[in-house]
Amino acid sequence: MSGLSLKEFFDAVREGHLLAQRCAGCRELAIPPKAFCPSCHGKEWERVELSGKGEIASYTIIRVPPASLAGQAPYAVAVVRMAEGVSLLGRLVDFPLEAIKVGLPVVFTPLIQGDQPLIAFKPS
Ligand SMILES: [Zn+2]
Repeated sequence: MSGLSLKEFFDAVREGHLLAQRCAGCRELAIPPKAFCPSCHGKEWERVELSGKGEIASYTIIRVPPASLAGQAPYAVAVVRMAEGVSLLGRLVDFPLEAIKVGLPVVFTPLIQGDQPLIAFKPS
């Protein structure tokens, strides 16, 4: 089966779908897509869609953002442990910053910035 390109991955994000790859060799999930499996170095991938559900594993409040995001601070970026077992970095949206805690359940939502789709999570 064919792998997943980054363009296909972000096109799907824009439409509200979270795609990942599952290694045909060792069954490891990879997201965002990679050319080679980090576990077994295989390059045969199956495409899977994740549920979008997960929980906050860790987070950082960004108070001094890169210049392009200057108007958006403060905002939070989290590592989310997905229900399928992979972890994914994304922006937290629709959360009061003081309410963010490790372990909170979240669900994937696309965040369109300019014309660029980003991965974000909101309370589930
Ligand atoms: Zn593998």
